[in-house]
Amino acid sequence: MSDDVLAIPEQGRAHEEVLADIDAARHDDADWQAGRTFSLVYYAGPEHTAFLKQAHQRLFSENGLNPLAFGSLRKFEAEVVRMTATMLNGGPEVAGTMTSGGSESIMMAMKTYRTWARAEKGEHTPNVVAPVTLHPAFDKACHYFDIELRKAPLLASGEVDVEALQALADDHTIAAVVSAPNYPNGVIDDVTAVGAWAAERGIGLHVDGCLGGFILPWVEALGHDIRPFDFRVEGVTSMSADVHKYGFAAKGASVVLYRDADLRRHQFFAATGWPGGLYVSPTAAGTRPGGSIAAAWAAMQAMGRDGYLAIAERSMQAALRMRADIEAVDGLAIVGEPKATVHAWQSTSDDLDVYAVADALEARGWHLNRQIRPSSVHAIVGPRHMELVDEWAADVKAAADEVRGRPELSGQGQAAMYGMMASVPEGSEAETELFVKQMLDGLYEV
Ligand SMILES: *Cc1c(COP(=O)(O)O)cnc(C)c1O
Repeated sequence: MSDDVLAIPEQGRAHEEVLADIDAARHDDADWQAGRTFSLVYYAGPEHTAFLKQAHQRLFSENGLNPLAFGSLRKFEAEVVRMTATMLNGGPEVAGTMTSGGSESIMMAMKTYRTWARAEKGEHTPNVVAPVTLHPAFDKACHYFDIELRKAPLLASGEVDVEALQALADDHTIAAVVSAPNYPNGVIDDVTAVGAWAAERGIGLHVDGCLGGFILPWVEALGHDIRPFDFRVEGVTSMSADVHKYGFAAKGASVVLYRDADLRRHQFFAATGWPGGLYVSPTAAGTRPGGSIAAAWAAMQAMGRDGYLAIAERSMQAALRMRADIEAVDGLAIVGEPKATVHAWQSTSDDLDVYAVADALEARGWHLNRQIRPSSVHAIVGPRHMELVDEWAADVKAAADEVRGRPELSGQGQAAMYGMMASVPEGSEAETELFVKQMLDGLYEV
């Protein structure tokens, strides 16, 4: 074998040495503990994180694939599902499972509607209607399960145009999806209007609460203006809520819920003729890590209502401050009407490139996610951001002042790349798709 092909080391290495390699590799990773990031890591402080690791470790080796072998995991999963259902105002008939994350929860919901519609209606060319702001996990799920996904435009508030959504439906529509809130602009769709319509048509309605499921109930309890979004709404037949986001669990934990166990049954898979014995699997995964299930249960127990309320209060304070400080800058504005802890901001002025402002903020140590349609910058705000609101206010103003009236900055840094992406006309994304897939090929080379 040639020396330059990476292979498993001939001789096993000392643990210390291997761990030192990991530490060295982490050196330049995004520093989420410093709080200047707005996605990917949900952080409730060092004590909570240390506690999660302990809970995770207790069931590190166990496998949730077979709940009969590990009664502990069966109990924790059932309780996580029940506590989540109760939090989202589902009655005792609401049933669900845990999954590895929002994407798997969403995949399971889409597969469930497809299987249900086949069995109940003989539907073999199904479609689903949803807003353009729908999370790409639905595009992925529909791609995997061969469901056509039809997307409706938004109102100026950033919520889906319900009439436009309804107009997309036909006899093959098996379900609608809305978000609470959506990822790109943090706005909650009109679940009540879509729910009444879906119930009348006899189709499913999934509410994507991956992002909001574990924070909207508490923001609402604090008295903020949150429209009905959960099982209280007539017509809602399923929801997804990520414990590994605002539930502050360890990664690998989400919940998918259904109106009742009859609907959930369409999610389950059983192979009965296998020489290896009876094989039953509730979700897409086979082996299911016990640690994630235990840590999700532990997070909910340790947080309690009071813990989640305190986090929601701090996160809301920070989000409202950051929104006010953005609006205070000449030429910047919040996209739509977000009501919770997620928002995006854009430029309202021709002499201010929002991507160039983002680059100037990046130079000041902030890690930001850029978006297109509209060109904007995204933030998921958490409790720790409250410590940084003053710096944010100063930096966002300084960044805008630095960039204003300097069009040459649009051609530099990330602004150049995003400007290019933003200018790709809708419907002609095939080239971009190929380009980013080729980029992925390259990313995983050693
Ligand atoms: C994060 C997210 C998802 C997908 O969840 P993953 O855990 O990343 O798979 C789906 N919908 C929304 C609104 C999200 O924010």
